[in-house]
Amino acid sequence: MNDKFLKRMKVLLEDDYEEYVDTLQKPAYRGLRVNTLKVSVDDFCAFPICPLEKTPFCKEAFYIPSDTVSIGNHPYHTAGLFYVQEPSATSAVEVLDVKEGDWVLDLCAAPGGKSSQIGIKLNHTGFLVSNEIDHHRSQILLSNMERIGLSENMIVSANPAMVCDAFQGHFDKVLVDAPCSGEGMFKKHTKAMDEWSEENVLACKQRQLHILDSAYKALKKDGVLVYSTCTYAQEENEEVVYTFLKTYPDMELVDCGVFFGREGIAYKDLDVKKVRRIFPMDKGEGHFIAKFQRKSENTAVKLKTMVSKTMTPYGKAFLQEHGNFDDFYVKYDQDKLYLCKQPFFDLKKIKVLRQGILCGEVKKQRFEPHQHFYMAALLKPWHKQSVSLNDEQCEQFFEGNVLAIAGYKGFVSLSYHGHIVGFGKGDGKVIKNKLPKGLRCKVSLKKARSV
Ligand code: SAM
Repeated sequence: MNDKFLKRMKVLLEDDYEEYVDTLQKPAYRGLRVNTLKVSVDDFCAFPICPLEKTPFCKEAFYIPSDTVSIGNHPYHTAGLFYVQEPSATSAVEVLDVKEGDWVLDLCAAPGGKSSQIGIKLNHTGFLVSNEIDHHRSQILLSNMERIGLSENMIVSANPAMVCDAFQGHFDKVLVDAPCSGEGMFKKHTKAMDEWSEENVLACKQRQLHILDSAYKALKKDGVLVYSTCTYAQEENEEVVYTFLKTYPDMELVDCGVFFGREGIAYKDLDVKKVRRIFPMDKGEGHFIAKFQRKSENTAVKLKTMVSKTMTPYGKAFLQEHGNFDDFYVKYDQDKLYLCKQPFFDLKKIKVLRQGILCGEVKKQRFEPHQHFYMAALLKPWHKQSVSLNDEQCEQFFEGNVLAIAGYKGFVSLSYHGHIVGFGKGDGKVIKNKLPKGLRCKVSLKKARSV
């Protein structure tokens, strides 16, 4: 236990300190959030894969027992029916109050908990740009977003200043879930507590203010910015809010409009009733949330759209075979075929990992579909043929084996209790396994039940 950190907590929490110290002896809260693009909360809860208990933070989120194991290997996880997320981490997007049709920017997005929550709320409308500066973490973000099955989503990996310059003045909502000293994560990462230092808290504060400078640029007039951290340090929370408001008088602090957690901790003349804090005493590991609205005009830069290369006959044939995609923009680039309801944007120097749905690519003069095509919630009605797997076949599929299922020729989507887990290719006698190698794992379904 880091004595310096605990001393600061005593000063910060005053009378609540003993209650906080008691929570350190208890296991960390764990949770999951249901993906309502793929299953209703009622259906998910009717046959749960583990005990679920409602949280006060978000109606799609649930506590799960602290000793739950292997939940990430369950077929429903691969199917994108849920996202494993610490319960209080679901609070910030509730405050962001995303509406269908919004353009939303998530500036610090990996591994994708909050971005997936935003995308689900957009319900295949508007546009979500999810940015992660760290290249390795951006790949994890990509795979999580693919599994959740969004379509109107662009995933980029760049520093926030570049992203916000490229999209200046375009967003209704911006989320800065900032890198922080992570004091709310100490139970999960005990090493982090030993490495904690005041110098790091102050370095985080400077970085957070830098990211907020960029976020400000990306907002439209009347656009909403939510700033969140998973730390308790006042320097990274109320102090950042105070400094940001002094720097940008045209940004107004607005009430978070939620009832969970508690108000902020007094700092100068900041109206701390408007911000929200969640401590373990409030039934979550820890979050801080502040909400702002931009009151000044901001001219939107013109976005350049991409011209698609001429598609090969193989890509054309795949689309024609699967249905009518007239409502979508189609991009064909480097042998890969994408669909999106927004035009494809050209961001020049910014690394774009994905925009829209990656349908597949042309390989050796034939079209090979991609897992994303089958995971995209919007495209389920377009699957040409589908096979429902029983427990044993599903275990075989996850282990990467060929499925002894006859009677199917060509690409087939494979489902478990009605939820798509991937696809295969039938030759009439068997179905070849097309589950990407990174998703293969040992699955034991003896105890699993359907939703
Ligand atoms: N929002 C994410 C979620 O809900 O899954 C968690 C984000 S985590 C708290 C903060 C992220 O900010 C990390 O992925 C980290 O790599 C990224 N980051 C680190 N330094 C950054 C910087 N200078 N600018 C932007 N993001 C940064």
